[in-house]
Parts: sequence; C-alpha cells; structure tokens
Amino acid sequence: AKADGRGIFRFFEPAMDAMARDRAALEADLRRAIAEDSLHIDYQPLVGIEAGRVEGFEALVRWNHPERGLMMPDDFIPIAEDSGLIIELGEWVLRKACTDAARWDPPLKLSVNLSPAQFAYADICETVARALADAGLPPKRLELEITEGVFVQDAERGIAILSRLRETGVQIAMDDFGTGYSSLSYFRQFPFDKVKIDRSFIADMLHNGQARSIVEAIISLGRGLNLEVVAEGVETEEQLDQLRQQGCTQVQGYLISEPRPIGQFAGSVLSDPAW
Ligand code: C2E
Ligand code: CA
Ligand code: CA
Ligand code: CA
Repeated sequence: AKADGRGIFRFFEPAMDAMARDRAALEADLRRAIAEDSLHIDYQPLVGIEAGRVEGFEALVRWNHPERGLMMPDDFIPIAEDSGLIIELGEWVLRKACTDAARWDPPLKLSVNLSPAQFAYADICETVARALADAGLPPKRLELEITEGVFVQDAERGIAILSRLRETGVQIAMDDFGTGYSSLSYFRQFPFDKVKIDRSFIADMLHNGQARSIVEAIISLGRGLNLEVVAEGVETEEQLDQLRQQGCTQVQGYLISEPRPIGQFAGSVLSDPAW
C-alpha cells in the first residue's frame, strides 16, 4: 500500500508543480492588473418584486486577462484571498463602483461584495468612508454584501466592525444565506438590513420540496426580522411567481438581466444622457 501511495504521489507531482506555477503567474498578473486599472465591473440589477422596478445594482468584478481572456471572479478571487491581494482588489472595486454610482440618475442603490479577508487584514471602516467621501456618494446609497465567513474566525470582532459600518449609514446584507454555517444567532447579534437567499436553493425550488421549504423558511425569517429578502439567480417566470407568492421582496437573476457594463442599461432604467 505504501509503494502504491508513493507511486500515486509521483504521478501527481508534476501536475501539482504546474498548478502552483500557474497560480504564481496568475497572482503576478493580477497584481499588475490592479495597478494598471485593467479590471472592470459589470452590474446586475436588483428588482423590487411588487413594483417590478430596478432598485439597485450589484457590482461584480471581471478581469480581461491579456492572454487567457475574460476571467470570472471564481477564477481569481480565491487567488486574491490567499495572496492578500484581495485588500487592494477590494478597495479598487469599492472606489470604482462608488465613483460610478455617484453619477447614476436616478440615484439607485449600489451593492458591493466584501471578502472576509477584508475584515481581517485592513481597516475596512476607514476604506469604506474614504471611498464614499472621495466619490461623493451618500452612505445610505451603499450596501455591503458579506458572507458568514466574516464571523468564522472571530465573531465578536466581525460584529463590532459591521456595527461601526452600519452606524455610518451604509447597509449590510447577508449574502449566500443557507450555505456555509448559517447560524441563526448572527441575526440576533447583528441587525442586518437584508438577507440574500443563495442561488442554489432558487435553482432547485420548483422540483425539490426541501429546497422550496428552505426558501420559504428564509423568507419568513427575513420578513419576521423586518429585513429585505432577496432571491438571487432567478431564471424563470415560474420561480418569480413562486417567490412573489412566498413574500420575497427583491429578485435578481438572468430572467431580469445578466451582469453587464453599466452603460448598457442606458435608457432602460437609467436616464442620464451621458450613457
Ligand atoms: P455572488 O455575490 O453570489 O454573486 C452572484 C453570482 O451569480 C454572480 O456570479 C452572478 O453573475 C451570478 N448570477 C446572477 N444571476 C444569475 C442567474 O440567474 N443564474 C446563474 N446561474 N447565475 C447568476 P459572478 O459574477 O461570477 O461572481 C461570483 C462570485 O464572486 C460572487 O457571488 C461573489 O461572491 C464574488 N465576487 C464578485 N465580485 C466580487 C468583488 O468585487 N469582491 C468580492 N470579494 N467578491 C466578488
Ligand atoms: Ca453578492
Ligand atoms: Ca450571493
Ligand atoms: Ca454566491
């Protein structure tokens, strides 16, 4: 068995080396991309389920790699998190998105994703305050989407930082709810403004009773706590109908729009002639 183990190890070794080299190269490329401003942001609308109106946009970062082509966040956010580059990347996204949003007319809300690492290694309150001030964006127009990861290392610290952020007037959304640890006690310890139901439950809810029950439970939890409840990844009219019946307040997904450059929403939802 031991010999087998070594054999397997040797067999995989070159592949592992190649992967590590690939990661190191990507990390260097990403560092340069941030410095040279060559990332960009697509925006996806969040729509109020009652009125059917766009109420805000979520900023989603993309990277057009010079050789590899368009890279999605799942391809490079983990690398940024492991290398610490997420601090610079996150600040870049925040500053760019706030600057964009300051020009929107009507003044819709902006949602920005934060990585747990941004709470661990940097003064996120300072970073957010500076981004808002420099862009001239009022704090009430910004919503920060966080995941349960913020509470995993040091829950008390996470709650303290979120409380400070919320006191400045920005709103806090619990993203991807239902995955991860999903401790209900976070809702007792911190007054979130919004809960976003993870897309995996929405994808399954029409043909899977369990997923549907979970969606129902999250919606009634959110409504009971007076939170906005968002379903992400809504792709069909059937899902939308079901969510409306269940009392979900906002939806987001390909049914309404894929994430796109903000300029492509001109005319449809935003009236600024500059777009
Ligand atoms: P997320 O925050 O859960 O964002 C929603 C993801 O679902 C986005 O993927 C979006 O394009 C996708 N999506 C939206 N509607 C639909 C739909 O109807 N069907 C399907 N199948 N997918 C849909 P994306 O843009 O690839 O981003 C993936 C994840 O990367 C995000 O998940 C977020 O966790 C992370 N991310 C994106 N931008 C940033 C950022 O600026 N900072 C940080 N820290 N993370 C980011
Ligand atoms: Ca999000
Ligand atoms: Ca999400
Ligand atoms: Ca997600």
